[in-house]
This record gives sequence, C-alpha cells and structure tokens, in this order.
Amino acid sequence: MSSSLPESRPRRPSWIRARAPQGPGYERLRGLMRGLDLHTVCEEAHCPNLGECWKRGTATFMILGDTCTRACGFCAVKTGLPGQAPDGAEPRRVADAVARMGLRHAVVTSVNRDDQADGGASIFAATICAIRARVPGCAVEVLIPDFKGSREALEIVLAARPDVLNHNVETVPRLYRQARSGARFDRSLELLGRSKAAGMLTKSGIMVGLGEETEEVEETIRAIRSAGADVLTVGQYLSPSPKHLPVARYYTPEEFDRLRDFALGLGFQHVEAGPLVRSSYHAEEHVASGPASRRPEGPGPAGPRSETGPRTSVCAGGPRTPR
Ligand code: SF4
Repeated sequence: MSSSLPESRPRRPSWIRARAPQGPGYERLRGLMRGLDLHTVCEEAHCPNLGECWKRGTATFMILGDTCTRACGFCAVKTGLPGQAPDGAEPRRVADAVARMGLRHAVVTSVNRDDQADGGASIFAATICAIRARVPGCAVEVLIPDFKGSREALEIVLAARPDVLNHNVETVPRLYRQARSGARFDRSLELLGRSKAAGMLTKSGIMVGLGEETEEVEETIRAIRSAGADVLTVGQYLSPSPKHLPVARYYTPEEFDRLRDFALGLGFQHVEAGPLVRSSYHAEEHVASGPASRRPEGPGPAGPRSETGPRTSVCAGGPRTPR
C-alpha cells in the first residue's frame, strides 16, 4: 500500500457529467448573491452540480469571507490570510437571501477562520438565528470546520441548535497529511461525537478517489458511524485544477451503490453515495422534513448523550452578538 498520492491522472469517465451553469435560474441566483455580497461554496469550490442546483433554486452559502486560512490539497477555495474581520451584517444578508430564494432547507458552510479566536463560530450561530427569525420553519443545516478542536467554539454553534450539524471527515486518515493538513481525523470524529451527545442530527461526508484502499474507506465509514453520525455522503473526488491533488481513480456507480449498502448496514439513517454527490447535494432529502427539534433524539452509537449543552436554542432570546 502506497503512503503517498499517485501522480497519474486517469481519464474522466462518461458518468461524470456536469451540467453547464446557465439559464434564468442560474442568472437569478448569481445576481442575488452578488447583490447581497454573498459567497457560495458552489462557485468557490467549482462544484460540478452548480448548473443543476442553481436551476432548482438551491445553493450553499459560504460565510466568513472567501479566503480560507488552510490550504487543503483537494479544495479550490482561495487560501491565505483574510484581510478583514468577519462581517457582523453577513448573517442578516444570508437570511435575506434564504427568504428571497424561498428555501425550506438552508445549508450554510464557511471557510476556515483560524485567525479568529472562536474560528467564526459566533457568526455561524448568528446566521442560524437570523434565518430562524426571518424564515420561520426553514430547516438550517450547518457544515462547520473543526474550529481547531475548540470545544468552546463548537458549543457556540450547538447553542443555536441547527437542524443538522454537518462536519466532513473528507478522506481516510492515512491521506490527511496530503489532503487535509491542519486537520486531524480524531479531532473531526470528536466533534461529531460531541455534537451527537448534545442531541444534534449529525452528518458527515467523505470523498473517494484520492488513493485510498477499499478497506480504508470502510474503516473510515465505520469510525464516522461509531462517532455518532446519522447521515453520510460519499462522492467522487474531482481535482479542481492541475495544482490540486490528482484523481487516483474514478469509482463506478456500482461501487458507490456498494458503499451505500455497506454504510446503511452500519445503521446510518440516510446515505447518499454517487459520483457527483456532495455534502449539500439534495441536502433537504437527506433528513426528514421539518426542524430536527421535532424529531426524536436517540443516543448515537457512541453511547448515551451527555447532559452538557442547552436543549433550547439561544436564538429564542435573540441572535448572539458576533464578536
Ligand atoms: S451540491 Fe451543494 S455546493 Fe454543489 S452546487 Fe449543489 S448546493 Fe452548491
């Protein structure tokens, strides 16, 4: 088994087809995002589903600016030191966009903001609260960074009680150094476990095709489930540019079906697996309709819930003031 990522670049197979972003739906969303000075991970990460999702009127917001303080080898988002502090008015603008798009399930992610004391957690919480206030009944899913393992930062997000707490493990632990330097596999699992222990509906995802072995994928999925994740996404890694990590191989649709069956056998509530599956692809279908607070909160496979953390959202008392 090789310990490094391969240099060869296999040809893209016929089942990897992205719809070109165009048409009135796309133009409308693009105008809305630019008009409200908002970023989307759809655009910044060169998501292959952009044409389809935006035509359907959905998008994933990327808060805390457009510059990430880490440089993951798979990710197209701009990296560097953000020149600006987080924008305290951004949560309200995101809520505005959610209202204007008529979303019933909003997905919010961010760049890493390791330059901030709370990693941007307070802006996440304020965004959850702002959407709740502006669009009552809209489910809010947050796809959060690891906040460098800060329990305090995670607690700030959990206190706003998002409907879905998503954190991607991304790849198998052996490939973290090349693909996800600055992150730690055990730290991501701990975040998922803490979120589950706080009663969250939890979700995680991985990409395949970076050079991992099948057994490693299965071990990783098992670890994610053991940590307490309820929902899993598995998609094909696509290299955004020649400067990024190469694709080691393309999994076939049948292989994705096998991974989905394997994961379902471990007890995940929902598994989305396929070549173009991304964390937020058809996200509203990954969870039962309606806010998670209406769903039963069973303990995850990691064991009984901890009694720490609030069970009611801080949003009830008004949005948390960003630092
Ligand atoms: S899959 Fe997610 S990131 Fe990609 S276009 Fe759709 S909403 Fe955006």
